[in-house]
Amino acid sequence: MYKLKKEGFDAYLVGGCVRDLLLGREPKDFDVVTNADPDQIKRIFRNCRLIGRRFRLAHVHFGKEVIEVATFRSEGAEQSEQQMLNNEGRLLRDNVYGTIDQDVWRRDFTVNALYYNIKDFSVVDYVGGMADHNTATLRLIGDPETRFREDPVRMIRAVRFAVKLGFNIEPACEQAIHQLSGLLDSIPPARLYDEVLKLFMSGNALQTFEMLRHYGLFKVLFPATENSLAIEYDGFPKLFLIKALQNSDNRIAEGKTVTAYFLLAAFLWEPVQMLARDFQQQGLPDHSALQEAMNVAISRQVKVTAMPRHITTAMREVWSLQPKFHSRVGAKPARLFNQPRFRAAYDFLLLRTESGGVALELAQWWTAYQSADENEQRRMSEPGRNHKTRKSGFKRRNRRSGQNKSRASDS
Ligand code: ATP
Ligand code: MG
Repeated sequence: MYKLKKEGFDAYLVGGCVRDLLLGREPKDFDVVTNADPDQIKRIFRNCRLIGRRFRLAHVHFGKEVIEVATFRSEGAEQSEQQMLNNEGRLLRDNVYGTIDQDVWRRDFTVNALYYNIKDFSVVDYVGGMADHNTATLRLIGDPETRFREDPVRMIRAVRFAVKLGFNIEPACEQAIHQLSGLLDSIPPARLYDEVLKLFMSGNALQTFEMLRHYGLFKVLFPATENSLAIEYDGFPKLFLIKALQNSDNRIAEGKTVTAYFLLAAFLWEPVQMLARDFQQQGLPDHSALQEAMNVAISRQVKVTAMPRHITTAMREVWSLQPKFHSRVGAKPARLFNQPRFRAAYDFLLLRTESGGVALELAQWWTAYQSADENEQRRMSEPGRNHKTRKSGFKRRNRRSGQNKSRASDS
């Protein structure tokens, strides 16, 4: 920013970083806006790359850090982007860039439209963002319905910020979300996938889930999951997803990593099981029923939130390994243990256990197996040492009979 200033340009911090700094939180990243156009920015910074075809942004690299430097956009930036696209080949950018007092109106929430000016260390506020910040209010700039129709993703951004900041969504805005939640289905799946990651990988997954459901947004993002939540027995399955979300939040709080595939596997686990039961009833053997169910569940979900192949592959692995935990005799346990995806599958099994989907005794056996040395592991899997549990995790549970038998054979 000082470099831009030295070259005679205006430069402001804007968006989430100003909002978060005012709350005394460490911003995730820093966004800078300036009246320098991308070519001018590029000339000033050697460590700069221009990205974006339609609206060009500068990424200025400082070691591992990237600062996004954007040129003010004019009010009609979105429309003119459209025009530029239709204008085969030749990109007309002149009318896209604007001034700060034009740029402000295309931002979403008032608290996201505060500009920090390094010239005099002031916060520039055109839209009452400071007042809303003080009262912890999320308010769209302009008419909520118009702004949500322009870009329905703003509805899930509202939820994300409400949860992250502990702000309240302003009533008119809330009402518009209730009315317009369905519009989310027009968003390209790749963009929704990115948003889903931001929603659920940030350490507040459980609260986000609950708020998305409250506003009718969750069912658009995960229709099959929403559908499965309506069907409950024994406090299951709803409990399973809640445990998974809670578990993920706890891990983040402890500074541990969470993976997208694990959480997504949890989202779709109940739909997969419901489908697998259907396929079994149609006469497919357990293994094929599960494979077919995974195919169907994934192919339906990617129509809404495109998931990359490496993610869906990992999800399938976690699911496919679940029935294998029931085989505890002979070479099978060792084979399962040596699978690269064993640890994730085991964590998944634990969650299923916590929510009543699997006998506790089975999970405990695997917990013990992991900490045992090779000899002990071999002894644990000797025939007669433990009973056979049912192989498929997606049939109706029959916990009592399983546990009684195990006690008899283990003692
Ligand atoms: P965080 O980075 O903490 O998630 P943020 O507010 O910085 O929050 P970004 O997605 O990084 O969110 O966007 C930066 C800024 O760009 C926002 O603060 C907002 O002013 C503007 N913005 C981003 N997405 C939209 C959108 N869909 N509609 C309008 N303005 C947007
Ligand atoms: Mg940001």
